Amino acid sequence: MNSLPFAHELRLAVAAVREAAALCRAVQSGLGRAAMEKKDRSPVTVADFGSQALVCRTLAESFPADPVVAEEDSDVLRLPENAPLLGQVCSFVRRFRDGSDPEILGWIDHGRALGASGRFWTLDPIDGTKGFLRNEQYAVALALIVDGVVEVAALACPNLPEPVGLVFSAARGQGTWTAPLHSDGEPVRIVVSDRDDPRIAKFCESVESGHSAHGESASAASLLGIVSPPVRLDSQAKYAVVARGEADIYLRLPTRADYREKVWDHAAGALIVTEAGGRVTDVSGRPLDFTRGHELASNVGVVVTNGRLHDRVLEALKTVGEG
Ligand code: AMP
Ligand code: MG
Repeated sequence: MNSLPFAHELRLAVAAVREAAALCRAVQSGLGRAAMEKKDRSPVTVADFGSQALVCRTLAESFPADPVVAEEDSDVLRLPENAPLLGQVCSFVRRFRDGSDPEILGWIDHGRALGASGRFWTLDPIDGTKGFLRNEQYAVALALIVDGVVEVAALACPNLPEPVGLVFSAARGQGTWTAPLHSDGEPVRIVVSDRDDPRIAKFCESVESGHSAHGESASAASLLGIVSPPVRLDSQAKYAVVARGEADIYLRLPTRADYREKVWDHAAGALIVTEAGGRVTDVSGRPLDFTRGHELASNVGVVVTNGRLHDRVLEALKTVGEG
């Protein structure tokens, strides 16, 4: 058993994102639509910390020597005025795992490594917080990076059909697999589309125009002859839809010269796509460089395709001044 490389890591990573996604859903139904509709951000804050606590607990227990580069730390939760928030986080976490308040704070802070060389995990406990608040797309994204190479990825997408709720997983060299998130079901292998005519290609991008330049992607799309309007969705669910051939291209074009993409926003998604046969680079065609700590400091933007369309997309981006 466990003869494939990283089999143990992959199994635990999938179990960890499944558990975290269950907590996110519990928070969504527990704190309710009322809070969400009031534009109160507390549901996403509680779910974010709770998700990180659960995933980091699993990682700390199973791989105590591995640093974890995660999006959150517990500093705000430790402020006396945030005691009620801490109480909510801990009560949701304890629905899944026993632990005292200080233990739960410690699990969250297990994810505070700022970046590491060698072997480390990276976690986005809720990627697509705006999507979570709208009850649209969001993801729990976990990846294992070894010497700059993404070896393992687990991506839970609680609202992605079909059925609603899917978990995607990949280990390098072993393909990309998906399984139902909220029920039992055997994993099935997925591959990218074989579409090579850009005129019938579908592209996706962020809902938030602050995260990806919509005007520039529209120019590139029109140059490529893409007819369909972009499909906009939050989170690394965009990588998942390319990996399973539902979209052919995901563009993330810089909105600010000084923004650097974060490793937790891309590591899991990138392996999910490349193991499904696709390609992932930055806007200039450079591979994503995961050796630079918590940021993709050597890269600008991200371009994801089914592979066949990649060079043409890069060319179009160059022509519109984005490549
Ligand atoms: P998305 O759901 O694809 O729009 O991406 C959500 C992620 O965008 C968050 O996890 C943030 O880390 C990231 N983000 C925040 N500001 C920016 C920005 N200016 N450009 C690109 N990504 C950003
Ligand atoms: Mg994120």
